[in-house]
Amino acid sequence: MSMTKLKRPKHKGSGRVFKNALLEKLTKTHIAIPLTMFTTIACCLIYYGIVEKGFTTPVIILLFVAGVFVFTLVEYLFHRYIYHIKPHTHTLEDISYKMHGIHHDYPKDKQRLAMPPILALIIASFFFILYRAIMGDFVFGFLAGFLMGYTLCLSIHFSIHIFKVPNNFLKALWYHHAIHHYRQPNKAFGVSSPFWDYVFGTMPELRKTATKSGVFIDKD
Ligand SMILES: [Zn+2]
Ligand SMILES: [Zn+2]
Repeated sequence: MSMTKLKRPKHKGSGRVFKNALLEKLTKTHIAIPLTMFTTIACCLIYYGIVEKGFTTPVIILLFVAGVFVFTLVEYLFHRYIYHIKPHTHTLEDISYKMHGIHHDYPKDKQRLAMPPILALIIASFFFILYRAIMGDFVFGFLAGFLMGYTLCLSIHFSIHIFKVPNNFLKALWYHHAIHHYRQPNKAFGVSSPFWDYVFGTMPELRKTATKSGVFIDKD
C-alpha cells in the first residue's frame, strides 16, 4: 500500500512488522526510552566538549543551535525521501510500509511513535562518524544539538498524536501534521516546524477545519 494513496487510518490497535514475537517486540518502544537515552548522550557530549576539549560555553551554545537547525533539515529530508520513498519493488514497498506506512495506518499507536531505540542508536553513531570527519572535535557540541533536535521532534510528534490540539500558537504544528496524515501525505513533511516545507515548496494549500482530535475535515 503506497502512502501517497490516502487510506483511512485506524485509531485503535497496532500493525505487525515481524512474525517473530521477539523481533516484533523490539519494534515497539515507550517514548520515554529514546527521550532519556538521547538526552543523556547529549549531556555527556556537552560535558566532554567542555571538560575534555576545552570549548567555552558560547562555542558550545553556537554548535548546539547549529546541530538543532541541521537536525530539522535532516528530519524533513528523511521523512520526505526515505519514509515516503516511491517504492518500485514489492520488497521496497514492504520495507517502506514497515518503516513509516504503519504509522500512517495506526497514527495513534503509542508504542510506535519513535524509531526502535537500537536502530536510532546505530543511526546516531553513523552521524557521529560523519560529523566527526567533517568538523572534528566540534562534533561534541554539534551532535548534542542534533540529538536534542531529535528528542524535540519525538516529543512534538508524540504530543500531536496523543494529546488534544492545544489552544495556543502550537496548534499550527498539530494542523500541519494532521494535513500530512489525513489529507495530503505528499505535503507537510516537517514535524517540528513547517520551515522546510516553506523552503522546498511542500506547504499544503487547504481550506480546513479541525476536529478536537486533530482530524481534518475539508470545508467544501
Ligand atoms: Zn509521513
Ligand atoms: Zn505522525
